[in-house]
Amino acid sequence: MTSGTNSFFDVTIIGGGPTGLFAAFYAGMRDLKTKIIEAAPFLGGKLPYYSEKFLYDVGGVAAMTAGDLKLELEKQARTFEPDIVYSQLIERMERLEDGTFRLTSNTGETHLTRTILLAIGFGTLVTNKLEVPNAERYEGRHLHYGADSVEQFRDKRVLISGGGDSAVDWALALAPIAKFVGIVHRRNEFRAHEGNVVQLLNTAAHIMTSSQVKEIHGTNNRINMVTIEQLDTQEDVELEVDEIVVCHGAKPDLGEIKNWGLNIEQERIIVDAWMKTSIEGIFAAGDVVEYTGKVPGLIAGGFTEGPAAINQIKAYLNPSQEVKPIWSTEHAKLLSIHHGS
Ligand SMILES: Cc1cc2nc3c(=O)[nH]c(=O)nc-3n(C[C@H](O)[C@H](O)[C@H](O)COP(=O)(O)OP(=O)(O)OC[C@H]3O[C@@H](n4cnc5c(N)ncnc54)[C@H](O)[C@@H]3O)c2cc1C
Repeated sequence: MTSGTNSFFDVTIIGGGPTGLFAAFYAGMRDLKTKIIEAAPFLGGKLPYYSEKFLYDVGGVAAMTAGDLKLELEKQARTFEPDIVYSQLIERMERLEDGTFRLTSNTGETHLTRTILLAIGFGTLVTNKLEVPNAERYEGRHLHYGADSVEQFRDKRVLISGGGDSAVDWALALAPIAKFVGIVHRRNEFRAHEGNVVQLLNTAAHIMTSSQVKEIHGTNNRINMVTIEQLDTQEDVELEVDEIVVCHGAKPDLGEIKNWGLNIEQERIIVDAWMKTSIEGIFAAGDVVEYTGKVPGLIAGGFTEGPAAINQIKAYLNPSQEVKPIWSTEHAKLLSIHHGS
């Protein structure tokens, strides 16, 4: 559902990742007129990028794929029917005379809101590319910076470039189904979860450390072979491959939000214990925030920071009223939705 951009919302949540989605549910529980604005054409934040992986560290969920968690979060977020706007990257914020805000997105559309909750993760992620001549020629076809499914690599000869968690995860996922898996990494050791590196060493994957892709050889946009440079000896080796998966990470970029006047350090928004930013009426939660004791990169962190921010937003909007804790088990609307009472 989308509404006219001229109607006012109590809270506009920028970012439809796990933090933003759960905060939207909680804002509904607190009777706030809520809008979510997401830059991507889909919800879920980072979850769709590793949808087939299992998450084991979300409280109360023993094991669930990131894809399924996205679906559950989306279903929960829709409980109180928030307004959801897709494919708009919020760039500008203006404070109006009455203390409310006008947000403007990259499409030029504007949104009016009394408060803002920034749940923007790392902002936009700018993927680090494989710096090899002609790499762009194969991009999207046989040179990948991510993929929807591992199935597309079944029975293929795949080279993975990178040495972090993502590279090792790809190698582990492809080892049982690909015809050949090679992994090439500039450093002499992997910077991935120790247990996964041990698992990788026990697969048939061909491991090339202190090495990098130097050249890609192909015909008609198909890859046939790559030249790998051994960095210590400067020797070149040739390897026959069909597909290359590049896992060189991405640079976080908060984009225009950096110019709003917020207190930002190293692409993180500094908040206090109530998730208040340095600008009154603007709150932040999830991967984007930094405060003493922040546990970074944990979905469960956003699940507490989001409600903490929403409770403060409720107090900000109703300064004369005491904001009491609220339990879903006693929430009249939730009871009527789920039990028809
Ligand atoms: C491969 C991988 C494995 C992981 N495994 C785990 C795990 O096992 N357990 C765990 O707890 N965590 C894990 N994580 C981390 C987890 O995914 C993040 O902590 C979580 O997604 C953070 O949620 P978020 O909503 O704060 O941010 P995000 O998920 O990053 O969502 C932010 C959203 O904001 C949008 N956005 C950004 N800027 C704007 C803007 N200006 N306007 C509009 N929209 C904007 C983005 O498009 C994005 O959708 C993993 C991450 C990765 C990459």
